[in-house]
Amino acid sequence: MLQMESIERINYSGTIYDSKHKLPSAVNIVCPFCKRNVHFAITWKVALNVISNYSIVSCPSCDGKVRFVYFGDMKEPLDLEKGQLYSFPDTTARMPLKGVNQNENLSDPLKRAYFSAINVYNTGEWSATATLCRKVLEGIAHTLVPDGRPNESLASRLRNLPENIDFNKPIMTIADAIRKGGNLGAHFDLEREPDQEVTTLMIDLLDYLIEYLFVLPSRIELLHDKIEHLKNTGSNN
Ligand SMILES: [Zn+2]
Repeated sequence: MLQMESIERINYSGTIYDSKHKLPSAVNIVCPFCKRNVHFAITWKVALNVISNYSIVSCPSCDGKVRFVYFGDMKEPLDLEKGQLYSFPDTTARMPLKGVNQNENLSDPLKRAYFSAINVYNTGEWSATATLCRKVLEGIAHTLVPDGRPNESLASRLRNLPENIDFNKPIMTIADAIRKGGNLGAHFDLEREPDQEVTTLMIDLLDYLIEYLFVLPSRIELLHDKIEHLKNTGSNN
């Protein structure tokens, strides 16, 4: 099946427009062929429109041919935010978590370290990737406990995390929100009836809850066991 990659707005680095349409004209994305982060300058093959903008662009690094398609918003074709750009083939490269760039709780140095770890991973530099992953972990520990002892080891910093962070809080907040939303449905109330918006939020919260309580722990256990196993069977360093 053809799998297209939807490209986030944050990756746009240029626009082109006429009186009725506005489209991205350049993007910085990971090339699906050489897996480097490269700049693609897009020349659209037809007059700008809302349904059939396409282009083929060669990667400046490896010359691989990437196809781009852009759909504009039918009602507001000048609003770039409402359109969507796709590329093909989709990249098999590791992508950063969506939303990390916009997240204000993560410092810029921490974001940069995280993005570097992923970029370096995509180039196949395994040892450098492992080092950067550890650096990101240090950054996370430092962000969560900013005033820890300066020379404290990472292991000790991590052990002390629960004293500084209330790990139960997000899960209790989610559970409480679902319970309150459920009350809206269970008890008749003319003023407050659950609608699509509320129930969509509730399903989202349920997804988070199930992922947090059931899916993530088993996945984390599995990864932890794998890393432990590597350590035992590998060299003694
Ligand atoms: Zn390339």
